[in-house]
Amino acid sequence: MKIVIVGGGAGGLELATALGRKLGRKKKAEIVLIDRNQTHIWKPLLHEVASGSLDADLDAVSYRAHAHKNHYEFKLGTLGAVERDRKVILLDAFVDEEGEEILPQREEHYDYLVLAIGSVSNDFGVEGVAQNCIFLDSPTQARRFHQRLVDRFIRLNLELTEGKADRKLRVAIIGAGATGVELSAELYKAQEWFSSYGLGNITPEHMQVSLIEAGPRLLPALNDRISSGAHQELVKLGVSVRVNTAIVSAEPRRLITKEGEEIPADLMVWAAGVKAPEFLTGIEGLENNRANQILVEPTLQAKGDPDIFALGDCAGCPITTPDGQQRWVPPRAQSAHQMASTIEHNLCAIIKGKSLAEFQYKDLGSLVSLSQYTAFGRLMGGLARGGLSLEGKVARMAYVSLYRMHQVAIYGWSRTAVVALADKINHFIRPRFKLH
Ligand SMILES: Cc1cc2nc3c(=O)[nH]c(=O)nc-3n(C[C@H](O)[C@H](O)[C@H](O)COP(=O)(O)OP(=O)(O)OC[C@H]3O[C@@H](n4cnc5c(N)ncnc54)[C@H](O)[C@@H]3O)c2cc1C
Repeated sequence: MKIVIVGGGAGGLELATALGRKLGRKKKAEIVLIDRNQTHIWKPLLHEVASGSLDADLDAVSYRAHAHKNHYEFKLGTLGAVERDRKVILLDAFVDEEGEEILPQREEHYDYLVLAIGSVSNDFGVEGVAQNCIFLDSPTQARRFHQRLVDRFIRLNLELTEGKADRKLRVAIIGAGATGVELSAELYKAQEWFSSYGLGNITPEHMQVSLIEAGPRLLPALNDRISSGAHQELVKLGVSVRVNTAIVSAEPRRLITKEGEEIPADLMVWAAGVKAPEFLTGIEGLENNRANQILVEPTLQAKGDPDIFALGDCAGCPITTPDGQQRWVPPRAQSAHQMASTIEHNLCAIIKGKSLAEFQYKDLGSLVSLSQYTAFGRLMGGLARGGLSLEGKVARMAYVSLYRMHQVAIYGWSRTAVVALADKINHFIRPRFKLH
């Protein structure tokens, strides 16, 4: 039996690891993981890659090396189409940065297919966003933002040296969900580090971060307490928080609001929501919701094809909230993690001829980190029955532990302990910020 998982992200890599160890090692099934990148970075860290507080080159997991250790096969490729009648997926030709073809267009046969390709930013059709704003959907985009940030800081420092005291770096972030809020704080930390690493003319007053939200408050998915706590902390840092402000167009170096106001910006980041990739709506016989997600049964098998599973941001899985409302499982790392566990269980059950389990989403709470300044959160379930609010260092520790849990899923406990130790050592011997 051949199980093909497309997308080695928060959910897909955990699933490939678990199935490789359980089935691949004993040759009970052939496990193939396909990703368009050669390395894995846990997506919730992308804003740290963008600011420079995380060096993606140090933290990335090489799929090939990881596959070798965990008894699955890795293939580099970008999923272009699924032909369900032939049980085949089509991978686009792989070209390098110079446009040279490295791998031709290929086909990959599957017995069971798991779609785990995540999501992309949703620009909601707002004019000029695709051309003028940066998205944080992939490590490449996060690195690109970081490079621009470094270049702008270097130029700003020179301008201030030349006596142009009125110069500022203006960054506009559209969307005050976790990504926008966390990135805003990270940018002030970046400014502090760049100032101490030789660009000493730049002070917090030379940076203007505008966080723009169409709704009435920050972090709309989280409770009022976390939202207002984060709001106050960001204002203290110097962020200009603008709620009830809808952007209707993005132009080079400026945004236009619904009321016709211009917001000038040197860098513009669009973080106003996500949707599943468009091409998922073209798989014949499968159904999609408005966010392009593949609709799934409670077993996480696609509606219309029991041999295809979907997980994480690209899966449309309905849930009923405790107050009786119908919602989709939210696009979060904990959802992808939980779905990966259910699919692992169900694929093993198929091999053993047992019945499949239904997915139960457990909201374990939310944590938002404002760089190294502070963090806010609420934990649910377990000891925190009814919810436990966290703030400051404890919340920050809980936030860091989420990544450690992902590392445990892909490395195991002992290697994660070694990686954590290596991180501590790097903390002392390497610059605290990526400076190039
Ligand atoms: C900056 C940022 C901060 C976030 N913070 C949090 C947080 O604090 N907590 C939280 O719960 N969630 C957070 N999220 C959301 C979380 O990252 C996602 O919900 C989660 O990563 C989804 O997991 P996934 O496995 O569905 O997809 P992903 O982790 O996005 O993985 C998708 C994988 O598919 C690959 N891929 C995509 N398209 C193709 C293709 N066509 N062919 C082959 N491979 C493909 C990608 O390279 C990637 O490896 C954050 C997201 C961002 C961007």
